[in-house]
Amino acid sequence: MNAPGTLFIVSAPSGAGKSSLIAALLARHQQATMEVSISHTTRQARPGEENGKHYHFVSVAEFKSLITADAFFEHAEVFGNFYGTSKVNIQQRLQAGVDIFLDIDWQGAEQVRQQMPEAKSIFILPPSQAILEQRLSHRGQDSAEVIAQRMTKARAEMSHYPEYDFLIINDEFEKALDDLDAIVRCHGLRRTGQAIRHNDMLKQLLAE
Ligand code: GDP
Ligand code: ADP
Ligand code: 5GP
Repeated sequence: MNAPGTLFIVSAPSGAGKSSLIAALLARHQQATMEVSISHTTRQARPGEENGKHYHFVSVAEFKSLITADAFFEHAEVFGNFYGTSKVNIQQRLQAGVDIFLDIDWQGAEQVRQQMPEAKSIFILPPSQAILEQRLSHRGQDSAEVIAQRMTKARAEMSHYPEYDFLIINDEFEKALDDLDAIVRCHGLRRTGQAIRHNDMLKQLLAE
């Protein structure tokens, strides 16, 4: 029997670094016990984004038919586009002992908490508004208009940080990555999971 994995919800204003931090965490561990959920979205793919890898890119009509088919665990409209996490596999992967990361906005986080109160939520903040704007510009993947729209929404998104279990300030990247790692490792050491993982050893330790 596997110790079940943890569902981690990660939110941040666009450009705060959540995608980079999650990707770096998965690369650091290179283990089969951590996965990031690939959302569906109706936004245009950015240069370099691959369908099925970064997102499942779908039309508005396809997205709406998925809603009708009750295919989403959560979905929300963000910056005028639809985003959603499909139900497929989440429960099965958690049962198989895999930690799942959801890179979703605060509206989605609220829906996930209602359905799965045991999920752990992490909010990532940039050190300042000026740095957030710099990161959005330096990423070089959104038009000036889209960046301006994302900056306007950033304050509203950031105001939701008190709803989250953990807060990470992404100033120095490696430090923020260590913080994220610490949260995940801590959850991997919970006694309930450890007792399942080390069942045989514990039996022997306590044998007469
Ligand atoms: P980025 O965060 O700047 O890279 O921009 P994205 O276009 O990838 O994401 C836009 C917003 O949608 C962010 O707030 C994401 O957290 C959110 N988002 C992405 N996928 C999902 C999803 O499946 N569900 C929900 N609710 N929000 C999502
Ligand atoms: P999000 O997924 O939250 O929108 P990204 O992970 O795409 O954010 O990061 C936005 C940009 O900022 C990227 O170009 C990324 O390389 C850069 N970035 C992320 N964290 C840091 C950091 N601590 N210092 C400097 N640049 C960063
Ligand atoms: P971007 O378009 O820059 O990739 O993402 C913009 C925002 O949409 C980010 O804040 C991201 O977290 C959010 N987002 C991405 N996927 C989902 C999703 O599946 N559900 C929800 N609720 N938000 C998402």
